[in-house]
Amino acid sequence: MLISIITLFPEMFQGVFDYSIIKRAKEKKLVEINLVNLRDFGIGNHKTVDDKPYGGGTGMVLKVDVLEKAVANTKKGIKSEKVILLDPKGEVYDQKIAKNFSKLDHLILICGRYEGFDERIRNFIDAEISIGDYVLSGGEIPAMAITDSVVRLVKGVLPKEEATVFESFSEIENQKLLEYPQYTRPEEYKGLKVPKVLLSGNEKEIKEFRQKEALKTTKKRRPDILKSK
Ligand code: SAM
Repeated sequence: MLISIITLFPEMFQGVFDYSIIKRAKEKKLVEINLVNLRDFGIGNHKTVDDKPYGGGTGMVLKVDVLEKAVANTKKGIKSEKVILLDPKGEVYDQKIAKNFSKLDHLILICGRYEGFDERIRNFIDAEISIGDYVLSGGEIPAMAITDSVVRLVKGVLPKEEATVFESFSEIENQKLLEYPQYTRPEEYKGLKVPKVLLSGNEKEIKEFRQKEALKTTKKRRPDILKSK
């Protein structure tokens, strides 16, 4: 899978993609990350990428002509390709969207800055994604979050695929749940004991316990995801 990130600050991604799962995914050639500098598509000697908003207002707006040129240059023209605008006005990102993105051959993420984008760029993209109801200074952190969540779902990236099947927000038998509680050694810490059933070795009972606990935690903390499909 190829993930292209169109950004004014490609240097921000150094380091973030050089550790752990993403690093290994790149080494195994399961994922390639292509950082595209929006400045390269800027206009004139100053490589201008933004301008003042029509109608007045504070801040600068990223120019549609520059953005569109960057998108056209980054696209590979393949069927399994999606261009995503990172925008607080977009659809709120979740595990289901991450799963769908992980099946693409090419995911293109456009990072905004300043006041955001000239509205007309929306005619040249496939979807708009927000990572939550708050405003960040730029799309780089959302692009990092999306890339990380997608890469770990790409087939072959995690050595044990079930690691992504039984985790929070995954759909199992048509039900979305938070993950069950996890414990490791010591068996007892300051009077807090690991539930006995987990020490029993009885796989059936352990499975039942985990299902029950996952449901209990979800009902208590995130009843909204129980309702959503
Ligand atoms: N003026 C815009 C508004 O009020 O909706 C906010 C612009 S924000 C300061 C600059 C850029 O950061 C956005 O264009 C977008 O690319 C990115 N961004 C900020 N918050 C985001 C979020 N919650 N999800 C995705 N991208 C976000």
